[in-house]
Order: sequence, then structure tokens, then C-alpha cells
Amino acid sequence: LQRLRARLARSNSALGKGLLALLSRGGLDEEAWEEVEDTLIASDLGVEATTELVDSLRRRVSVEGATDEATVRGWLKEELLALVQPGLDRRIASSRVGDRPAVILVVGVNGTGKTTTVGKLARVLVAEDRDVLLGAADTFRAAAADQLATWGDRVGVPTVRSDRDGADPAAVAFDAVKAGIEEEVDVVIIDTAGRLHNKVGLMDELGKVKRVIEKQSEIDEVLLVLDATTGQNGLQQAKVFSEAVNVTGIVLSKLDGTAKGGIVVAVQRQLGVPVKLVGLGEGPDDLAPFDPEAFVDAIVD
Ligand code: GDP
Repeated sequence: LQRLRARLARSNSALGKGLLALLSRGGLDEEAWEEVEDTLIASDLGVEATTELVDSLRRRVSVEGATDEATVRGWLKEELLALVQPGLDRRIASSRVGDRPAVILVVGVNGTGKTTTVGKLARVLVAEDRDVLLGAADTFRAAAADQLATWGDRVGVPTVRSDRDGADPAAVAFDAVKAGIEEEVDVVIIDTAGRLHNKVGLMDELGKVKRVIEKQSEIDEVLLVLDATTGQNGLQQAKVFSEAVNVTGIVLSKLDGTAKGGIVVAVQRQLGVPVKLVGLGEGPDDLAPFDPEAFVDAIVD
């Protein structure tokens, strides 16, 4: 946990430093507030959230009359934490529901880190003593099923896949859920393809995967993987996916590769669902539950 915190801090410190430099300059004049705004917008917080945050911070500074760094920093933390919405339920559905496994569908644009996230999530759940089964429904990218099966071997869980490239992803998803029910596992995690250039095709495909799974089981969790380094573009992608499936949580991958932590706030506002997990590297242990308090501390301290 310490290690993850340190990484998170490194990924976000640019924002913190910029703000603190401004706050500690003393005497928050109009120009300084504009710079605070620019710094927050540059961190991908989004214009709306930035305006809200700066407005309420300015109000507090003017009402309560304090401008010393420590006080303003404390308020900044409070306001940021409120924007991150610490009260949201960020648990992942991973326990059996009645006599069937929990079903988790993982969606997102190719290259965002879907397959890696499925592997890392399987590892987290195995460490929690869950029986996990993977489904390789990304049948479009030739190497995707191999990559997922490699993760499965590494983590020690079975992978259901098709023996030929270009198979029907919905058929693989169906087989994976069927196997999960027969084997009485706790949770089935299904990797999917994400070809965004063909929006209609993508939505049709995901819609079909969803319908076919639902012949046997409900879908308990739909995790949308977004690459934190793609910033506001990622938000556009997010919209497309949320129109195709009912997204229940966001995995923000590659947070180790950006200083723009504000994207957490922006994406939650855009989709109305919580960031549940964050990717902090390529290794098997580099997936962490999203912790709002630690996140805000990492940004501001
Ligand atoms: P997919 O096409 O969405 O399934 O993406 P992959 O899982 O194949 O990941 C694409 C690349 O991103 C790979 O090189 C991964 O190692 C890398 N990656 C995934 N998650 C993270 C992360 O949290 N941090 C970093 N730095 N790299 C990541």
C-alpha cells in the first residue's frame, strides 16, 4: 500500500506543486486565482468542476479571511475530496449470487489496458480466496486470447477461449458463463474487444454479448477501462460505451503515467458512476482500489 501511495503521489504531485506554489505566494489576488483555475483545468478536472471548486474556495477565503498556506491547503483538500465523492460505493461485485457466479464484463477501447486489468483483477480476487474463471471474448485481436490465457496461467485460473481467431465474441462469453456456472466458481470475468473506429459495430457487438450472457445470468458489474493519459478524449470514448452497456464502475488505467489526476473527477461526473480501481503500472500487483482520501492527499501534499 505504501508503494502504491508513493506512485500515486508521484503521478499527481505536479498538480499539488503548482497549486501550493500559488497558495504559498501569499495574498491571493485575481491573477493568482486565475492561475489556480488554469492549473486545475490543466489537470483534466474539467471546466465545470474547476469553477465550482475555485468559487467555493474563494468564498471561504473571503468569508473566513484566512490566506495562510496551511489553512487554504486544508480547505483545498476538503473541496477536492467533496468533488471526488468519497461516499460512493466502490466495491466490486465478486461473490456468488444464489447458485450462480458473479459476472463481470470488462469493456473499453483497445490499448487502454483491458486485458491487463482482467489479469490483475483476477489476481486480486484470487488473493481474496475467490474461485475465478476468465472469458476471452476479445476475439478480434489475434493475440488477445493468448495474452489473457497467459495471465490466467500466471494467476492460476482457467481461461475459456475459442480455438479459432475471429470467433463470435458472444459465443465465447456464453461458454465462459456456462463453464463458470458448471464449475461453481465465484466470479467470471469477461474480456471484450473495443474497436472504437466502428462505433455501430462495437455497440452491436457489445449489445449481443450482453444479451447472450443474460440468457444464463445477470451481469453484476460492467467495468469500463479508461486510459488516464488520454485525458478529455477518454471522456468521449466513455460516452460511447455507456450508451452500449450499463457501466457500473470505471477502472482508470495508467494513472502512473500522468500528472493529470483530475480526470478521476471529470469521468465520474460525466458517467455518474464511481472510479472503482486504478492501474498504477504494468505488473501483476499494480491494480489498487481507488481510495479518495489517499488520492486527495497525494494530489495536495
Ligand atoms: P487492451 O487492448 O485494452 O486489452 O490493453 P492491454 O491490456 O493489452 O494493455 C495495453 C498496454 O498498456 C500494455 O502494454 C500494458 O502493459 C499497458 N498497461 C495496462 N495497464 C497499465 C497501467 O496501469 N500502467 C501502465 N504504465 N501501463 C499499463
